[in-house]
Amino acid sequence: MVVEFPLNEMRRSCPCAACVQLRPQGGPKVPADITLVSAEMHGLWGLAIVWSDGHATGIHSFEVLRRSAEARND
Ligand SMILES: [Zn+2]
Repeated sequence: MVVEFPLNEMRRSCPCAACVQLRPQGGPKVPADITLVSAEMHGLWGLAIVWSDGHATGIHSFEVLRRSAEARND
């Protein structure tokens, strides 16, 4: 299965504590041209992503990514 995730949406849904705290105010401010600098496996648990805006504390769990992918295929 190959799934494409919109990067801006993925960055805005960053699961780190700082971004989660910003959710009630609309979430983190994300540049429209956000890109990935790197994405590395965090054990078998998820992806640790470094973003072009310098943000690097979010780990996107494979479980959440899979649920999001399945929702996109509905
Ligand atoms: Zn974050």
